[in-house]
Amino acid sequence: MIEIRNVNHSYDGLSVLRGISLELTEKRIAIIGGNGSGKTTLARMLNGLLVPSAGEVLVDGISARTEGAKVRKLVGYVFQNPEHQIVMPTVEEDLAFGLENMNLPKTEIAGRVDAMLAAHELTHKRHAPAHLLSGGEQKLLTLLSVLIMEPKYIIFDEPMNSLDLAAQRRLKALMNELSQTFITITHDFDVIAGYDRAILIGDGLVQADGEPGGVIERYVASVSETG
Ligand code: ADP
Repeated sequence: MIEIRNVNHSYDGLSVLRGISLELTEKRIAIIGGNGSGKTTLARMLNGLLVPSAGEVLVDGISARTEGAKVRKLVGYVFQNPEHQIVMPTVEEDLAFGLENMNLPKTEIAGRVDAMLAAHELTHKRHAPAHLLSGGEQKLLTLLSVLIMEPKYIIFDEPMNSLDLAAQRRLKALMNELSQTFITITHDFDVIAGYDRAILIGDGLVQADGEPGGVIERYVASVSETG
């Protein structure tokens, strides 16, 4: 379980989150809300990428504040923009990068990379320069680079952003097959239709929380009210 306890966050005096408490126990959770409402700020706290100004995030009881490295092993993060995530020159090297940081034996790393490439029909792209892949392929690579580390939870930040229709379909299908618990920040309501729970963030607070259909209705109504 990921537990968020009375989290507050400010950037240089700008208050972005103002007392968020949540217990995330469901398998598929969406975080929705307007631009600048603090969704990414909250999501980045879930794996210790960002430490809240006040409050705590606990992942399976482990503090993201004091044990960030352990929490990052449990919680993978798929960034909105693959360019921010792909760090190595080739597909193979990028897949291996996180495992090398985990100090796994070389044979284990090679085995996991081979299996991941084969499972996603990417073996022919093993030595391809990552920056020359299509947008859809880059997104796939970032997800596989996270999956290969076998996290228990995955955060997706606007996963469908900038993907064409075919790449969106492929990614949706792949996400549907994942056994991991995941939390998705998105404006794409098709993506979260089958989710267990949606959380609407607005004005630094949880504005609605529950079954996605009802939460999306609340969001749409709040946008209509404010014109
Ligand atoms: P969302 O993901 O909902 O669009 P963010 O969490 O990215 O919202 O941003 C919330 C607010 O915090 C915005 O006003 C944004 O400009 C501001 N913000 C985000 N990151 C930073 C940062 N590193 N430094 C200063 N302000 C930031």
